[in-house]
Amino acid sequence: MSNDTQLDLEFAYTTYRDSCRDLYSPYYLCRRPSGHDGAHAAGFGTDRLRWEHEHGRSPHQLS
Ligand SMILES: [Zn+2]
Repeated sequence: MSNDTQLDLEFAYTTYRDSCRDLYSPYYLCRRPSGHDGAHAAGFGTDRLRWEHEHGRSPHQLS
């Protein structure tokens, strides 16, 4: 699992176009580089979020 300092650097050097953009919510998109290893992440400081991709699940399939 990447630590917060590593994530800060990844976000700083990754443009929106080159980022993963996995959707966590309408307000949080993954800002790690596309094709990254491990958990998705977004936000800075106390707003930092991490989440694992759940295969086979999309928001449209929630009941
Ligand atoms: Zn991601």
